Amino acid sequence: MRSGSSLVCIGALLLGLWASMAKTSDFKHHGYEEMVRALFAVQSECPYITRIYSIGRSVEGRHLYVLEFTDNPGIHEALEPEFKYVGNMHGNEVLGRELLIQLSQFLCEEYRAGNQRITQLIHDTRIHILPSMNPDGYEVAARQGPEFNGYLVGRGNSREVDLNRNFPDLNALMYYYEKNNGRNHHLPLPDNWEQQVEPETLAVIKWMENYNFVLSANLHGGAVVANYPFDKSREARVRGKTTYSATPDDKLFRKLAKTYSYAHSWMHKGWNCGDYFEEGITNGASWYSLSKGMQDFNYLYTNCFEITLELSCDKFPPADALPREWLANREALVSYLEQVHHGIKGMIYDENNNPIKNAVVAVAGINHDITSGVDGDYFRLLLPGTYTVTASAAGYMPSTSTVTVGPAEAIQLHFYLKAVPKGTEVNMKSQHSKKGVSSAKVPPANLGPR
Ligand SMILES: [Zn+2]
Repeated sequence: MRSGSSLVCIGALLLGLWASMAKTSDFKHHGYEEMVRALFAVQSECPYITRIYSIGRSVEGRHLYVLEFTDNPGIHEALEPEFKYVGNMHGNEVLGRELLIQLSQFLCEEYRAGNQRITQLIHDTRIHILPSMNPDGYEVAARQGPEFNGYLVGRGNSREVDLNRNFPDLNALMYYYEKNNGRNHHLPLPDNWEQQVEPETLAVIKWMENYNFVLSANLHGGAVVANYPFDKSREARVRGKTTYSATPDDKLFRKLAKTYSYAHSWMHKGWNCGDYFEEGITNGASWYSLSKGMQDFNYLYTNCFEITLELSCDKFPPADALPREWLANREALVSYLEQVHHGIKGMIYDENNNPIKNAVVAVAGINHDITSGVDGDYFRLLLPGTYTVTASAAGYMPSTSTVTVGPAEAIQLHFYLKAVPKGTEVNMKSQHSKKGVSSAKVPPANLGPR
């Protein structure tokens, strides 16, 4: 027990030295076991603002671990938006996985250091990080190592299924509804869809059902560009012709993509990997059309807006490229996350101040509604401007408000819905779902980066 305080001092000094050394040596590729250890190390370093949970297992039984950051882990707080990052969906596209491990360490360290921007972000947001959606594919690719230039080894899961071609195709139904005035959000899944998807895809869809995500990005490699929906073309592919497939939220998606590309050190310059993308962004279908991808599925099945980030020419960059990549992406990863706080958000109550879940929030002029979560809160990302917003729910009279959104954080707009008087009928067009439309033909698999 002698000289306890000086021992503590020396210990603290050594710890500081060790921590700064550890930062540099963290720039390496993490195999599955190492990745899991790294995530749990962050959790034990920042126990009050983190939680680790598994959304399911891969074909070979590896857990799909998510690291959550927020002030009250494990709890959805009303009006606090949920955000997600998904990495390594293609097992051989590994930069996203390493960047998300780095981001996790960064959020924890900066929070501990009192960084005001990061502290506020963690307090006001519930951030979910899935560094690897395809840990089986990663192990296959890692066995080849960074030197191997194979395009496809480890891309799919262990059954060699491309997970970004494995989600139920809701685009065909959406494009049919656009012409027939059908519903414009939360499209129904096909019958027996669970039997038609891989375990990794199933886990992610269940995850999306369990959390009311507002904003997301899906990290890939093989190009450098921020890609936004729709990925699937509305028309059949015509050779040499680009078919831009805009969502009703096209302007917003372009802004989200630009937030990333301009905060990234070189993505916005446009010339990368021998390709040119103006401002470092592209509509998915205008690049090449892709069916059954994850980002379109997010938009058509949930309240979540997702873009696909292509982050490196080299799908499996050497470890010594990782520090430079982290510095190029760090600000972009944080800036994109902060976008979840724009637009409008609020509560939807009945006359007795009980929250109403699954109420529909429609913005005039944008044919894509969103819904309130189980706590009765809703989040509607919007660009600055003045909007007419209507909330409706089965059994209640719709309510409409006008709101002006500025460039700063989300405007709060609450709705109080009156019950429909008995004997009255309210036409709830958007509450109806029309089933029975089969998918269009699936085009040949395109094996680009996405
Ligand atoms: Zn990919």
